[in-house]
Order: sequence, then structure tokens, then C-alpha cells
Amino acid sequence: MPEQTAVKIPGVLTVKQLADALNQPVTLVIGKLMQFGVLATINEDIDFDTAAIVADDFGILVEREIDPSQEQIRQEDMVSNTSEVTTRPPIVTIMGHVDHGKTSLLDKIRSTNVAGGESGGITQHISSYQIEIAPKAGGEKRVITFLDTPGHSAFEAMRRHGARITDLVVLVVAADDGIKPQTVEAINHARAMSVPVLVAINKIDKTEADLDKVKAQLAEHNLVPEDWGGKTITVPVSAMTGEGLDDLLEMILLSTDLRELKANLDVPAVGVVVESNLKPGVGPVATVLIQNGTLRTTHYVAMGDVSGRVRTLTDHRGRRINEATPSMPVEISGLSGVPQFGEQMMVFEVERDAKEAARTFLRSQSAKRAAGQTIAIQSAGQKEGQKTILTLVVKADAKGSLEAIRDQVSVMKNEDVEVRVVSDGIGDISEGDITMASTAKAPVIGFHVRIPSAVKQLADREKVSVTLFSVIYELFDAIRSALAELMPEITIEEELAKLQILARFRDNRKRVVVGGRVEDGTLTPKQLVKVMRGKEVLAQGKLITVRRGKDEVRQVLAGSECGIELDLTGEVTDIKEGDTVVLYRLEKQKKPLGL
Ligand code: GDP
Repeated sequence: MPEQTAVKIPGVLTVKQLADALNQPVTLVIGKLMQFGVLATINEDIDFDTAAIVADDFGILVEREIDPSQEQIRQEDMVSNTSEVTTRPPIVTIMGHVDHGKTSLLDKIRSTNVAGGESGGITQHISSYQIEIAPKAGGEKRVITFLDTPGHSAFEAMRRHGARITDLVVLVVAADDGIKPQTVEAINHARAMSVPVLVAINKIDKTEADLDKVKAQLAEHNLVPEDWGGKTITVPVSAMTGEGLDDLLEMILLSTDLRELKANLDVPAVGVVVESNLKPGVGPVATVLIQNGTLRTTHYVAMGDVSGRVRTLTDHRGRRINEATPSMPVEISGLSGVPQFGEQMMVFEVERDAKEAARTFLRSQSAKRAAGQTIAIQSAGQKEGQKTILTLVVKADAKGSLEAIRDQVSVMKNEDVEVRVVSDGIGDISEGDITMASTAKAPVIGFHVRIPSAVKQLADREKVSVTLFSVIYELFDAIRSALAELMPEITIEEELAKLQILARFRDNRKRVVVGGRVEDGTLTPKQLVKVMRGKEVLAQGKLITVRRGKDEVRQVLAGSECGIELDLTGEVTDIKEGDTVVLYRLEKQKKPLGL
């Protein structure tokens, strides 16, 4: 392995400078930064450590270039930049099981909290919206952004793009129904994204409502309610009567206030597409949730393979606005096409750069497709009695995601196969993980973590398979596929044809000769046969020859009559007209996993 020469970069540099130094498209660098939770635009400064992580992800080694005078200037720049940093409204997503009241809750909150007493009669413009609340104690009005409940798969799509768009998940659980499969799925999503969860226990107006039961179920899923000594905030509400909704909003603000959500108004905007469509008379539009910076009309933008100059900006109430600030959902027109849900939006100073970003994206997409995106976990498994065990070493980026993986994996078993996590932990894959995996003959899987190049080399030497995932359901699917591969083989009978016996002819030595009509399939010689009477098997053997009239033929199709010669064992003498001859082939197949 030749020694890699390090690329020299300063202690603080702009995203553009880093992209140039690494010889990578700036859009890719911004995308990678997002994956690591850093929202930075093209001209924004990042520090050396952040730059080094991004570089490492590209497999490029960087070294800090010392230039004290430059450093000083840059540091001063950064301080002055921070003066533009403001608090942004929290972005809240409502999730939960179907029919537990997500839509009703969003509608009720919207209709009772629209600014300026304009409630009612407002046509729903875009489905994500902001509300304003005047705090009970007086003071400034507060804003909360509600993202329209994206389906769980939509959430995954966002995650795939590295977008962590929501600050808080409000988990809706119906008080009369309790925790259901999609509730658990939502909990796992929130954990995998390391997003805090607040629980709204809905439908408390119903007589069947049972708060204690729901709380007990929450505790079972590691969401122990505060009044039970845990950390999870639960708010009883009714989307129908409106009871508890003020408390819910207050709790949302309280729990997100602690985290001091910041954004910079004075940088080019970045955002994520949360909705898009083709509007008659307007053309392609996209609703973008602004994550940082300020977006203005006339800005050039790119999102995925689409670019354009912002013609109009429309807020959630259908009003034209000139600029959109962080945490605002805003509809943009002027695009070259309809962008995909979950794409990142970036702003460029000139049209050429926006177009180039869209082209680069397209190129990287086709490269990905060409590389084949299927991710497989390699394992021969380990026999333990009748069972085959898929041992795994698991690494994840956060406690929440690791718990979600553990939870799901613990139920992935049947009578033939089982998953066993021999070691797990938080953080990038280390040499210790590879050594452990090698000893335990276990593949390593990583979720939202990286593998430093030295560790990768060790894994190659030790022949340890390492698979990295950034989408939790791809990880689960890959484990399921690996398990399916470990399932034992079973032999199944594939039916080829059926013949109804119309007459029994002479027996020829040990062989039975019958005539009949092919009812189903195509009859061909030299196949296995069973002679059946109803469900009972009378005899078994082989089909020797097939004749039509005097001629021996190679096949007879359904609907035709023919004579066949059979070599059989069993109740041979008993066979008579009305019985059925079933022609079949034995095929080896993996037993279905059923998980
Ligand atoms: P979603 O599938 O989670 O969006 O659920 P919906 O908002 O569509 O609500 C499902 C059903 O539950 C609807 O018939 C609602 O009218 C009803 N519902 C929602 N919230 C409440 C509530 O607080 N009390 C009662 N009694 N019914 C509710």
C-alpha cells in the first residue's frame, strides 16, 4: 500500500474551498456535510475537524496547514458571522398508527391557531404549515412548524438523503386502542433518527379511553412517562373537543426550547423538498422546508436533478412572499421539473452553477445505478443443532438507532434460523470490532457509521465482511435476505401435467399401460408419476413412453388423448378408469423464511 499524501487545508475554510481541495463537486461535499448533521452552504466556513471527516469519507487524507495570520482573520470572520445566528421555530412531525387521529390533530391545531384570527375559510394551501401562539404569560408570539405527516416510507426517503428534518416527533396514540404496529414503527423511526419523542394520547373524550394502559404500553417500549418516573412527556388530548391541545403546544415549545435551535439568516438557503407536483398553469412547484439561510425570489436553486430561478415564493396560506426563512415551508415555482421528495435544495449565485449541480446529481445517480445498489450481508452462518445462527457485530451512530436495531433483530427468528448479535456499540467501526468479528466468524454491519481506511484494510485481510447502511429498513431487509440464504433446502413437487385414465389396457411385463386424456399441462416421457384416486396415492413410478395411435410421441398437450406406459410400484393391480396420473418433477428450494 503506497503511502497516501495528505492534502493540505487551512484550519478554517469555506465549503467551496474544501470541495476544490478535494477535487469533488461542491454539491457532494454539502450532501456529505448534511449526512454528518452539518448544515453549511457553499460559502460558509467549516473547521478543520469537520473538513477532515468529510475528506475521510471520500477516502482522502487531509493535513492542517498552519498560517497564523490567515487563521486570525478567519476566526474573526466567524465571530462576526455568528452575530447573524438566530433561534428558529421547531419543526414537528406527527406520527402514529393509522386512525389514531394524526390528521384530525393537525387540522384542529391549524384551525384554532391561525394568526390574526383568520381561522376558518382558509383554503389549505400547502399541507405543512406554521402556527403562531401567544404565550399565556405574555411576551413574544411563538411559531411552530408542523410537517404534514409524511408516510413512514417517505420518512425513509428523507433519511436516505441524509436529511434530518424534524426536531421532534409527536407520537399519536389513541387512548382507546393503545400501541399498535405502526406506533412501534414510528418509535423505531424516531430512534433511528435520534429525534426526541413526545406522546400525545388522543381521543381522551371517548369512554373507552384508558390512559394508564397506554402509559404501561409506552413504558414497555422504553418510553417511560414522566409521571411514572421516566423521561417521556405524555399529553392527554382530544382532537375532537380540542381538550389538551394548548398543553400539547406548550410542551412542544418547552421541550424544543431546551435544545436552542439555531439558524443563520444571512447565508444562502438550504432546505429539503417535502412536497412537489405539477400545477396546471404554473408548472412544476416544490414545497421546500427551509433549514438554514434565507431564500429569496430570483435566487437560483438546484434540488436533485432539477434547477431553476425562483419565480414565486408562496407561504402555507397561499400568500406571495419575497423571502423565506429557516423552518418555513414554502412553495417555489420556476423550476425546470418536479423534484423528488426528500431532495436537498441549494442556492447558487449564478444560473450556470445551479444547472451544473443538477447535472452532477444526475451523473452521480446513474453511476450509483450502474454500481448496483443491492447491499448484501455475507455469512455462511453457524450450525447449532438443527438451527443456523447468523452472528453479527453491530455498530450504530447513536443509542436510539442501536436499540431500534436490537429490538427488531431480536424477533428475527424461526425454527431454522436466528440472529445473534455477538457484539454491538456506538461509533465508527474499529479494529477491535474486526478482531471480534473474525473470532466470532460474524459479519459486521454498520448503521450511519463509517469505517476508517486502516480498519477496512484489516477487514479485507481478515476476510471479515463489513456492510454499511444509511437506511434502517435496508438494513433489516439485508438481514432478512441473509437469513433466507441460511434456510435449509426442501424438496418440493412441481406438477407438470395431469391425465385422466379412460381405459386400462394390457399390462406389459411389469408395466401398466393405460389410455386417457391430458387434463392439464403437457405430458412428456421420462418423468416421475403418481397414480391418484382422489387424494389417495395408489402407485408411484415413472412414465416410460407416450403414444398417439401407434406412434411414440415426445409430448401431448392438454385436451388430447394418448396411451402411456408406466413403470410403477404400489397398488398396481387396482388402477382403473377414473383414476388420475399426475406427472411431476422434484425441485430443491430454500424453505421460505416467513419473517
Ligand atoms: P389518522 O389516520 O391518524 O390521520 O386519523 P384521523 O385523524 O383520520 O382519525 C381517525 C378517526 O378517528 C376519524 O374518524 C376521527 O374523526 C376520529 N378521531 C380523531 N381524533 C379523535 C378524538 O380525539 N376523539 C374522537 N372521539 N375521535 C377522534
